[in-house]
Amino acid sequence: MTIQLYNTLARAKQAFVPIDPSRVTLYVCGPTVYNYAHIGNFRPPVVFDTLFRLLRRTYGAEAVIYARNITDIEDKIIARAGEEGAAIEAITQRYAAAYFEDLAALGILETTLTPWATAHVGDMIAMIGALVDKDHAYVAADGVYFHVPSMANYGRLSRRNLDDNEAGARVEVDAGKKDPADFALWKFAKPGEPDDAIWDSPWGRGRPGWHIECSAMAAAHLGETIDIHGGGIDLQFPHHENEIAQSECVHGVPFANYWMHNGFLDMAGEKMSKSLGNVVLLKELREAWPGEVIRFALLSGHYRAPLEWTEDLLDQAKVTLDRLYGALRRVWAETGEEPTDDGVYRALCDDLNTPNALAELARLATEANTAADQKDAPAMARARANLLDAGELLGLLGQEPAAWEQRGDAGEKARIDALVEARVAARVARDWAEADRIRKELAAEGIEVMDGAGGSTWRRV
Ligand code: AMP
Ligand code: ZN
Repeated sequence: MTIQLYNTLARAKQAFVPIDPSRVTLYVCGPTVYNYAHIGNFRPPVVFDTLFRLLRRTYGAEAVIYARNITDIEDKIIARAGEEGAAIEAITQRYAAAYFEDLAALGILETTLTPWATAHVGDMIAMIGALVDKDHAYVAADGVYFHVPSMANYGRLSRRNLDDNEAGARVEVDAGKKDPADFALWKFAKPGEPDDAIWDSPWGRGRPGWHIECSAMAAAHLGETIDIHGGGIDLQFPHHENEIAQSECVHGVPFANYWMHNGFLDMAGEKMSKSLGNVVLLKELREAWPGEVIRFALLSGHYRAPLEWTEDLLDQAKVTLDRLYGALRRVWAETGEEPTDDGVYRALCDDLNTPNALAELARLATEANTAADQKDAPAMARARANLLDAGELLGLLGQEPAAWEQRGDAGEKARIDALVEARVAARVARDWAEADRIRKELAAEGIEVMDGAGGSTWRRV
């Protein structure tokens, strides 16, 4: 089974062939840590976490090297530190920590590597030096610039004609540039900028541009050519185009063989974005919904299509997860079988078709319910193994069914456990009226008590 991936470079689905199957490399642009991330910011991490899981399953967990950086030096961070009168590091540590907490809540595996830009300024300076030496870059009044017309095939990822290029969102237009498309590799420090945002360089004190950060970190950790580079569709131009320009002009080899871009997460038909103000912070959403529901909702659409974020999407995700965990609970006690079903794996091999993968997962739940209805123990054990194996590929069904069904705070759980025990005691004492009263009291709170061979247990319905 080969993995097919839609390669933005080719504008086509292609069979994925790694340079070295014992060292498959994946680089994804990480967050700029200057405030709390919104749910749209987590679409790339969830999508590429699913790809990471698929690659690990295919090539072996140790064979896949996944780097997602932390951009901890950038104009917005400096602005934020200035507003708060705080050190740069205080800002970046705070928001990176919040980001890592959010990632964990979404069941996102730790990446193999998490390079921080500030730890690689030396690599960036070396790369800029090589670009200057090769006449791809020049020193202007306010910084060092990459000269876009110096690269013959600039623009081949976004397929832009140089004439269409205007300075992109993150590129500051400056009179000292030789060409409007030229972009900053190094920005000289301006008067009043804080010392902790300034580094020495052969051209003058300052800081790296955003694009060179990724080129340098990818080369430092993954090599001159990486297998897959990913990110949100908004990064295709100018960020990824500029990463290609820098890396290829220094190394003379392709920067990445496969480029993958996820579509936007929209709200009310518009991209969720800080500048539009239509953002839902994940940190806040997690107070209302389990992280697994949010992950499921993010996986419910194909990664390349826009995904409209609604309350209904979350409701649907929760209902479906309740059903999946309900099926898993029914077969939970039957162990000892190996997984036999590859429906979810196949769906993911088709350019990460997560809607089909979730449909396959639902089919496995139906099979579990059928096996449980028929009290067919070997079939139940197989269904359990299949559900867990498929769930792992998607980063779902990682909890025990009881933990899912009884989720909530610990005090709440202890109170309900005590009521269920009191009901068992009433039944043992043949006090049917009391047992019934407790059952009704719990039912009124949306809690169903289930009596089985192994005793009484409960779940939220
Ligand atoms: P930004 O905060 O705009 O720099 O975005 C950080 C990361 O989140 C980038 O990888 C973007 O591609 C991604 N991103 C931002 N907004 C959205 C959105 N609405 N949908 C999907 N990805 C997004
Ligand atoms: Zn990048």
